[in-house]
Amino acid sequence: MSTTSTINKSELKSLIGPGKVFFRNDPDFDEATFLSFGTDRTKVHSPDFEILAFPTNTEEVAKIVKYAFENGIAVVPSGGRTGYAGGAIAKNQELVLSLSKMDKVLDFDPFFGSIKVQAGMITKNLHKESEERGFYFPVDFASTGSSHIGGNIATNAGGVRVVHYGLVRQWVLGLTVVTGTGQILEFNGEVLKNNTGYDLKQLFIGSEGTLGVITEATLKLTTKPLDNRVLLVAVPDFVSILSLFKETHQVKVPLLAFEFFTEYCLGKVKAHLGVPDPFSAPSPYYVLMEFEIADENDDEKLFGFLETITEKELISDGSLAQNSKQSETFWKYREGISESISIDYTVHKNDISLPLRNMEPFLVEMEALLKDEYPGFEIALFGHVGDGNLHLNIVKPKDISNEEFFKRCKSVDPDMFRLLQKYHGSISAEHGIGLLKKDFLHFSRTEAEILLMKEIKKSMDPKNIMNPGKVF
Ligand SMILES: Cc1cc2nc3c(=O)[nH]c(=O)nc-3n(C[C@H](O)[C@H](O)[C@H](O)COP(=O)(O)OP(=O)(O)OC[C@H]3O[C@@H](n4cnc5c(N)ncnc54)[C@H](O)[C@@H]3O)c2cc1C
Repeated sequence: MSTTSTINKSELKSLIGPGKVFFRNDPDFDEATFLSFGTDRTKVHSPDFEILAFPTNTEEVAKIVKYAFENGIAVVPSGGRTGYAGGAIAKNQELVLSLSKMDKVLDFDPFFGSIKVQAGMITKNLHKESEERGFYFPVDFASTGSSHIGGNIATNAGGVRVVHYGLVRQWVLGLTVVTGTGQILEFNGEVLKNNTGYDLKQLFIGSEGTLGVITEATLKLTTKPLDNRVLLVAVPDFVSILSLFKETHQVKVPLLAFEFFTEYCLGKVKAHLGVPDPFSAPSPYYVLMEFEIADENDDEKLFGFLETITEKELISDGSLAQNSKQSETFWKYREGISESISIDYTVHKNDISLPLRNMEPFLVEMEALLKDEYPGFEIALFGHVGDGNLHLNIVKPKDISNEEFFKRCKSVDPDMFRLLQKYHGSISAEHGIGLLKKDFLHFSRTEAEILLMKEIKKSMDPKNIMNPGKVF
């Protein structure tokens, strides 16, 4: 790969017009702002790069990548930088290509209900644009005020309503991408049905910037839920959470979300956001359920459900939100967790998934492992349990250094991943592999699969300039 000193700065600056390509010492940005474009929410690696580009359309992205291809410069696509896998970190003098100036609506089809946007659109703005047109884009989670739709696609993001709507993958109709040679490819356009050979757009969904840059996306939209009810319950033990989920299949009211968290997580959110206790007595676990309500009959069904789960002693307390303000507070308990623990503490994150029926025995063994390996460490356990997805966060004790902490976690991870393998789970449910989990990819993918992935990368990125060193 080229070093920055051999690069012709003025040639690169004039490539896509003025005010779009910057170097580290340019007066336009202070050092911290400049470097923030080559990082994400992880705290393990520090960014170190010299070139930052802000293209405004697909053709400009293609020009930059072609230049990088011809000059042997590695490129890191940078979205909203909310990732938890280190995928957007540029620490080896890569060129950082930020999509943040590519945030326009390009097209809208009111007949089918789809919208075409540039990949740098902030996810919350996509929600807004969809709703202004009478539709709904259902992928949602706590960082959608900053994440980009391109970043969501590149990580195949999940979120809080996967149990009903699925992951981002389910909502992508078509993509425009720039491969590692600078070639522009359009996959699928806007049709729903297209059985004409391999569905190449799928390869880019979840590719974490390693195959090319996603520049435009056509997304399927749906209709907004008529109304919803949020139910928060206190649960005595983990097995009851699973039984509770089983019970939801019998309610006959559409379940939009099924999330859980522990008393420890609730404590952190209360301290960080100043929200009140949900119930008079603390409980080891809490479950938040959201249902779509069509009419009063559905409300009746939910009251019946609450009675059933109380009678079966699956819950020790429960409350159905009476209004949207109370629903919002209930959601804050769950959605505030990541920020509360990531901003105030250093954490080692694990984002794992398992078949639901294997979750209980896994957790029993996992608890023993955590007690042995992290004696006295605090653990924040929460997640999208209805999807079989647990976020297991080890919180750094104050008296050890970051370096020592992450080294220790890295040495414990393989034991956890072996356990996951035993219970047919995945080492990354939705955050991706990036830099942080790449040494462990073999716990979820076979050698043959990894080889095949490398071959696919070579076909789109023959010089390995696209986000090299990420995923594998
Ligand atoms: C508070 C909080 C809560 C979160 N909750 C969830 C959750 O519930 N579910 C979930 O799935 N994630 C969650 N995340 C993680 C994160 O928000 C998602 O992974 C998100 O999809 C990342 O989008 P981004 O635009 O920030 O991507 P970035 O962090 O900028 O990049 C992520 C990866 O995608 C690549 N990339 C970015 N844009 C492009 C592009 N246009 N073309 C090609 N590659 C690209 C980058 O190179 C990198 O490898 C959460 C994060 C936070 C901080």
